[in-house]
Amino acid sequence: MSITARPQANIVGSGPNGLTAAAMLARAGWHVRIFERNTAIGGAAASADVFGDGSIVDLGAASHPFGAASPIFRYLGLEEYGLEWLHSEYPMAHPFDDAPAAILHRDVRKTARSLGNDQIAWRLIHRGIVNSIDDYMDAILRPLLRFPDHPVKMAQFGLLSTPPSTWFVRTAFREEPARALFTGSAAHASTPLGHPFTSTFGVLFSALGMTRGWPVVKGGTGALVNALAQVITAHGGEIHTGQEVTNIDDLPAARVTLLDITPSQALVMRGKQLSQLPESTVHRLQRWRYGPGVYKVDWLLDGPVPWADQRVGKATTVHLGGQAAEIRLAEAQVNAGRIPDRPFVMVGQPQVADPCRAPEGKHVLWTYTHVPNGYRPAASDREYVADAIQGQLERFAPGFGSTILDKKIWDPAALEQWNPNLVGGDIAGGSMTGFQSLLRGGLTLEPYRMGVPGLYMCSAATPPGAGVHGMPGAWAAQAVLEDQRH
Ligand SMILES: Cc1cc2nc3c(=O)[nH]c(=O)nc-3n(C[C@H](O)[C@H](O)[C@H](O)COP(=O)(O)OP(=O)(O)OC[C@H]3O[C@@H](n4cnc5c(N)ncnc54)[C@H](O)[C@@H]3O)c2cc1C
Repeated sequence: MSITARPQANIVGSGPNGLTAAAMLARAGWHVRIFERNTAIGGAAASADVFGDGSIVDLGAASHPFGAASPIFRYLGLEEYGLEWLHSEYPMAHPFDDAPAAILHRDVRKTARSLGNDQIAWRLIHRGIVNSIDDYMDAILRPLLRFPDHPVKMAQFGLLSTPPSTWFVRTAFREEPARALFTGSAAHASTPLGHPFTSTFGVLFSALGMTRGWPVVKGGTGALVNALAQVITAHGGEIHTGQEVTNIDDLPAARVTLLDITPSQALVMRGKQLSQLPESTVHRLQRWRYGPGVYKVDWLLDGPVPWADQRVGKATTVHLGGQAAEIRLAEAQVNAGRIPDRPFVMVGQPQVADPCRAPEGKHVLWTYTHVPNGYRPAASDREYVADAIQGQLERFAPGFGSTILDKKIWDPAALEQWNPNLVGGDIAGGSMTGFQSLLRGGLTLEPYRMGVPGLYMCSAATPPGAGVHGMPGAWAAQAVLEDQRH
């Protein structure tokens, strides 16, 4: 079919969700055009050589429990386009001051056995999900206001995920290793851990780690983005970079437009369709709230991190924060607008699984911590948070400082300048607090349709939310295809 005879779709933004939506439509016979403001595609899933020495640094997402379990990435056959998941010996490690680290193994029995008196509780909590992880992922990675394909499993998951993480770990576990291991995963929600639904991430990340692992992408997360781009171009799609869209009327004529952006950005974008949004959609977009920001530091080292517990050096992901109570305090302080003295730090050591990430003799290390939304460092102490992150690394890896060759700091303003979807440094496309964590897009049965024919949102602000799994893009593309059938 000639290009002009095919239905046309414009996609604004080339994050993993924009690309997945485009790939789905391109495979369904549409002619898709993607418009990306940056010179490189991929949004918060891009990789780049930020140190200028040939190292590969993941600018956003680094580890992929969701990506490895994503039904849509499987469907698109990304492995045929060069995607390769690489696993380390342990998916995740959680070091302590004067005790052996807690380790998440890719096996529920092994993990449970390493957790002493909590082994039975750990197995009982995770066994059901681990045994049917694909059914659970099918049920979870979709809009929750639709009737689930697996209602019993969803009800079981609801029971485990509704309680606040603080209550959950105190009630379910007796000892620190299990409590801290669970709390570190729950803290990915970037929400006070005494809030409802914060157990969701604890259960989910642990279960994914014990089944699909927390792999990295060979050659950097950017290789996943490139695989998506290849699906698109193989089906005749076009990708235009360096093209910031401020008015959708400037785009070529198309039957549909999909926005891979978040609500506050959609409210300031111009165009005839956007000026016709129904009041209900405008209210929904205005009510959208953003969560804490992120402060990221990429490190170039002259060797591996000298962890006190050497097993930590065999995990691609490390949670630094010590005991569960300390992590709870750090996250509460961030949510109260303060910078913790001892922040909870996510650490990525991609080279443990993917040696090609840096030239011989060098190592890249990816770290970030939560900070209040829009946090701006004081001019007198620009590296305060970077120093606090380094303090946590020194605490669990004495001598870390002497391995540093270079570092690159991204405060919330720098992150947002690079990618405007990271509003105030929020990497989740919107707060994960309360019902907004469950009802992405707000209280609506139509989170992708914007209430004007032909206009859709497909970013992480729509269900099932943040992470590199492509599912918001996939569901948005499905909404387009359904609408065209009617
Ligand atoms: C530091 C960091 C660490 C993370 N860690 C992980 C992790 O380890 N694992 C994980 O699964 N997820 C992680 N995430 C989250 C994950 O990266 C995001 O949830 C995901 O990338 C969201 O995809 P998206 O397509 O919705 O938006 P984005 O990836 O944000 O892409 C949006 C794109 O739209 C473009 N754009 C915006 N406005 C316009 C405009 N007006 N015109 C044209 N283009 C525009 C942007 O430049 C960008 O390229 C992390 C994110 C960050 C920032």
